Amino acid sequence: MAATRTFSIIKPDATRRNLTGAVTKMLEDAGLRVVASKRIHMTKDQAEGFYGVHRERPFFNDLVAFMTSGPVVVQVLEGENAVAKNREVMGATNPANAEEGTIRKTYAESIEANSVHGSDSPENAEIEIRFFFKPEEIVG
Ligand code: GDP
Repeated sequence: MAATRTFSIIKPDATRRNLTGAVTKMLEDAGLRVVASKRIHMTKDQAEGFYGVHRERPFFNDLVAFMTSGPVVVQVLEGENAVAKNREVMGATNPANAEEGTIRKTYAESIEANSVHGSDSPENAEIEIRFFFKPEEIVG
């Protein structure tokens, strides 16, 4: 099966606790390859644009404040079934519901500060990758 790509963010709660390597290791152990990676401090505009689908949700402003509260690491991950594999290793949005051995069960602090983002479909993966990376920044 051909390799596919997904988009990942290591969120501010994880970078604050120096967990970039630990989270990346769990992604790699799940069979995903990091083919692009950069550490950025998201602007309010970027966070609002990225999470635009959640604009009407009650937690939108808190989410934008959280995502701009410190550095994040944006990544492109490659592998077989990359979107589904990443969602599996991430675990449920709320760490209280996440399976043992997942990133969120292991590291998340709360439903908001849940350590990682991962695209929920191949279509959104493409849009999200394009939001943060130029094609030449992705080296498979
Ligand atoms: P994901 O695909 O598992 O990341 O979940 P969603 O797309 O539903 O939500 C996006 C992000 O918003 C989550 O990863 C959390 O950081 C945050 N979030 C989701 N639900 C809640 C909530 O009920 N309260 C708060 N404060 N944040 C939430």
